[in-house]
Amino acid sequence: MSVKKNLEYFNNKLKNTDCTLIAVTKTHAPELIMEAYKAGCKIYGENKVQELVTKHEAMPKDIEWHMIGHLQSNKVKLITPFIYLIHSVDSTSLLKEINKQGQKAGRKINCLLQIHIAAEETKFGFSEKEAMALIDSNEFSGMTNISIIGLMGMATNTDDKEQIRKEFRGLKKIFERIKEDYHVQNLAMKELSMGMSSDYDIAIEEGSTMIRVGSAIFGKRE
Ligand SMILES: *Cc1c(COP(=O)(O)O)cnc(C)c1O
Repeated sequence: MSVKKNLEYFNNKLKNTDCTLIAVTKTHAPELIMEAYKAGCKIYGENKVQELVTKHEAMPKDIEWHMIGHLQSNKVKLITPFIYLIHSVDSTSLLKEINKQGQKAGRKINCLLQIHIAAEETKFGFSEKEAMALIDSNEFSGMTNISIIGLMGMATNTDDKEQIRKEFRGLKKIFERIKEDYHVQNLAMKELSMGMSSDYDIAIEEGSTMIRVGSAIFGKRE
């Protein structure tokens, strides 16, 4: 297994597409991540705040860090000074806190709304209705230190490729509907974050603009 070879595979796959690779480095040591960095990869995703903060401090400063895991409101302030994009905004109260901490940090924080598309109950996220209600609210238009630049979703963990495809296709539909129907200053629908090691091919076919890939690059996690 070579991190460099794996990255070459993805770079080739995504060449001439609008889809970006987010290399998911959770649980991996900075030494291994540096192999990817030296191979030219500068966009990384983490799912835990403490790990993200530690790696941000330890790694070169030209890296784009993406928060992809469930985020607790009380930890938002630890990442707002540097985070490039938060994929996992799954509640209005969390978004409010990101807006507040964005203001303190003097930044506008790019966010994706996480939409619940899987059959499992355990995955976080808004329903389509909830997301639209949020975007439609006065509270939302008053949030001047966040920008919603798209949606994120995770498909059901299943071998049924047709089910996965249906879920991604549904997310893309929600994305297009919001893009057409809502015109608010802090909303700019550009990114659709879907697809991981097991389902990125389907996600790309269904219109993903960001795949979040961990084990297919760095190998199995402990
Ligand atoms: C871990 C993780 C990934 C990457 O998973 P792999 O199967 O290793 O590619 C993608 N998205 C989220 C939200 C994750 O937590």
